[in-house]
This record gives sequence, C-alpha cells and structure tokens, in this order.
Amino acid sequence: MELKDLYRDVILDHNRHPRNFGRLDPANASAVGHNPLCGDRLALSLRLNGERLEDIRFEGKGCAISTASASLMSEAVKGKDRGAIRRLFEQVHALLTRQDAVAGSELGKLAALSGVREYPARVKCASLCWHTLNAALEHSGDTVSTETTESAADAMDAHRLRVLGEP
Ligand code: ZN
Repeated sequence: MELKDLYRDVILDHNRHPRNFGRLDPANASAVGHNPLCGDRLALSLRLNGERLEDIRFEGKGCAISTASASLMSEAVKGKDRGAIRRLFEQVHALLTRQDAVAGSELGKLAALSGVREYPARVKCASLCWHTLNAALEHSGDTVSTETTESAADAMDAHRLRVLGEP
C-alpha cells in the first residue's frame, strides 16, 4: 500500500467515525470556527486544568477534510499542555503550507494531512480546527473565521440551526 493511500484511508476513517465528537459538559473554554469558502463550521469545547488540556470535544458540520482534521487534532492534543499543542500546531501548519515540509514522528496520524497541500483550496478546511483551538486556548468564547470576522452570537445561531437540522 502506498503512503498516499494510507493517508487517504486515515482521512476517510476519521470522517466516517469522528473521534471526540460532541460537546463537553462541563467545559471551561470554547470557541467557534467558520470557513466561509467551504461552509465548514466547528464548535470546540475544552476542559483545561492549568496548562494542561484534559479533554476536548468538537461538533459542527463540514467537509470530509475539516471533519477528519478536527478528529485527528482532538486525539493528538488531548492530555497535552499548551506548549506542546503550540509546537504541534506549528508543525501541522508547516505540513499544510510548505511543499518541502517533512512530517516528523511526533505528528503521528496527523501526517495524513500532508496530502491536503496538493489542494490549496482545502488547506483552510484542514487548518480551521487548529485556528479555532488557538482561539479557545487564548480567548475563550471567541469566534474565528478563515475569511471575515463575525460575531460569536451569529456563528452560534447558525451552528444551532445546523444542529437542529434547519436550513
Ligand atoms: Zn471544507
């Protein structure tokens, strides 16, 4: 099996069976992310204990890449401290944006995202969850968008409608 086939299988698996999907209750940090170019929406809820991210859940609706990326991220960051999460984010960002970036062993399954850089339009789908996580870690409750800013209330309303199955 070629590496790119393995990577594709990891993405498909995490899209079909997202890990850590849902809402954390109680949570002490959260953020909403939106990628208007693709329509991906994501809400993260976190339980932080000091510097350590004890638990994380995500919910929302998006394309296969955004769902798989959030699922892979949730597995990778759970139990890590802020410093380790920041380093992981920098590596994922390089992997997604630099053709010459090599996936280090510490990336684990996140290496599967390296295929996304062949499709520049999808890079934001894969990075949305990381930007949302940054927002949750630094300014809990913020809304981040890959394109424009919008109020957290608008994003949460849209998110709620999506969850309820309304248009
Ligand atoms: Zn997308």
